Amino acid sequence: MVDLKGQYEGIKEQVNSSVLNVIESTAYINGPEVKSFQAELETYLDLKHVIPCANGTDALQIAMMGLGLKPGDEVITADFTFAATVEVIALLGLTPVLVDVDPDDFNIDVKAIEKAITSRTKAIVPVHLFGQCANMEAIMEIASKHNLYVIEDNAQAIGANYTYSNGDKKKAGTIGHVASTSFFPSKNLGCYGDGGAIFTNDDDLAHTIRGIVNHGMYKRYHHDVVGVNSRLDSIQAAILRAKLPKLDYYNAARKEAAKKYSEAFKGQENIITPKIGSVCLSEMQCEHCDCHVFHQYTLKVKNTDRDALAQHLNENGIPCGVYYPIPLHNQKAYQDSRYNEEDFVITNQLVKEVISLPMHTQLDDEQIAFITSTVIDFINK
Ligand SMILES: *Cc1c(COP(=O)(O)O)cnc(C)c1O
Repeated sequence: MVDLKGQYEGIKEQVNSSVLNVIESTAYINGPEVKSFQAELETYLDLKHVIPCANGTDALQIAMMGLGLKPGDEVITADFTFAATVEVIALLGLTPVLVDVDPDDFNIDVKAIEKAITSRTKAIVPVHLFGQCANMEAIMEIASKHNLYVIEDNAQAIGANYTYSNGDKKKAGTIGHVASTSFFPSKNLGCYGDGGAIFTNDDDLAHTIRGIVNHGMYKRYHHDVVGVNSRLDSIQAAILRAKLPKLDYYNAARKEAAKKYSEAFKGQENIITPKIGSVCLSEMQCEHCDCHVFHQYTLKVKNTDRDALAQHLNENGIPCGVYYPIPLHNQKAYQDSRYNEEDFVITNQLVKEVISLPMHTQLDDEQIAFITSTVIDFINK
């Protein structure tokens, strides 16, 4: 699904020397590499505060702790996402409220958010799924109308630009009150282990969060709040510093591969290629459109046994993934008697139809031709 080795070959010397420097320096925890990476990412995102932490799941949890959400508060998020999003809500004793998603971009359905708001609702967590921003303009409007926090789960869309209806642009993860991201190796900006970060433009919230990640300490050995221990280690920060200048190039390579996939699938009735907004990728006019960074390239297949297709691809040496095979509201851990199946029509359908093809920065034309023809042959057989 990913080619981490191929990508490493292109930056090997720089990564190796950066890692060796950290080892020589012995500044393994909170060393200068962490501070420099933080500052460089703030510049890249045009954001006031990046607070590095141990992983993307921690980042979400810490963001919620920083906002002071209390047990019983309701947090609305998408039914169709990785479990980490809902897991931290539940872990903090908050009440997850899962809602359906949009069939075209797989992101949280704005109308469903409005329907789910109660007097206990405190926050919305949009997930920019597969690399494409959720409808942030509408979500921020709802949030301001109902006085809610917005926490962007930006684990899959770092580097994506969200475009407002007036043409203004902002980077994914810099629009809500706070955001989280992950540097897990397969993410668009991945390190060689675990890593994550919290983003915010709010100075007070940033201060609160810097204490929370460090055992609730704002002054050494004075613990003002219950915190956690969540750090990005210096070696991972050094690797991320080597990779950050290439992020736009990596994302462009992903988009190029996505366009080639969609070109090859053009005219296939039973293959629905990813849409950007409601526009088909293969008809995209804007060469420089960067609103989708293709963390995944995800098809919907119609009139096809999706699992048999996945097996066929695997038998032909083509890795593929089903993200995600079970809606969160049907997971044992997150079942809730308040949920009705009629409220999850889209998610219930997507879990049967989606299939993600290999997506990374090293895909070549020959691989794309082999993958697409294998998919097409199976679907039309
Ligand atoms: C990867 C991911 C996370 C969790 O990140 P980790 O670094 O693995 O903890 C959270 N949310 C989404 C949507 C993700 O894809």
